[in-house]
Amino acid sequence: MMYEFRCLQGHVTEDLFHHTKRPESIKCEICGTDARHILSLVANTPGRWGDGRGYYDSALGTYIENAQHKDKVLADKGLVHESDMAGGFCDSKVQDSINEKKSHDQDMSRYQASMDNHGDMGRAFAETFPSEDTA
Ligand SMILES: [Zn+2]
Repeated sequence: MMYEFRCLQGHVTEDLFHHTKRPESIKCEICGTDARHILSLVANTPGRWGDGRGYYDSALGTYIENAQHKDKVLADKGLVHESDMAGGFCDSKVQDSINEKKSHDQDMSRYQASMDNHGDMGRAFAETFPSEDTA
């Protein structure tokens, strides 16, 4: 995942966090002060929308001409820009996992209820997952 940070001087630093949680702030690459995560300002980042000059992206290790070029570089590397993840995507992912949990909880309580009534694990399993082919 690509994240963008901005320090008090206005320098924008981009960083990649694959397996670690995104920190609230990182050290600015240019002046060394705290740079804060700036997702909400991402559309205003100089160069992001192609001002014709481009910039060197240290996180990606390549020169970026404009937003379209950057999207292509990200896609080539199998990465998704955080701003593309904003909006519905994250919400629906969260909703999916909530639904999964809810359905799992229902299964568990159905299983438990049958165990309470009959004390038979095989029967409880069959009643919990009636459509499963257990043969
Ligand atoms: Zn700075």
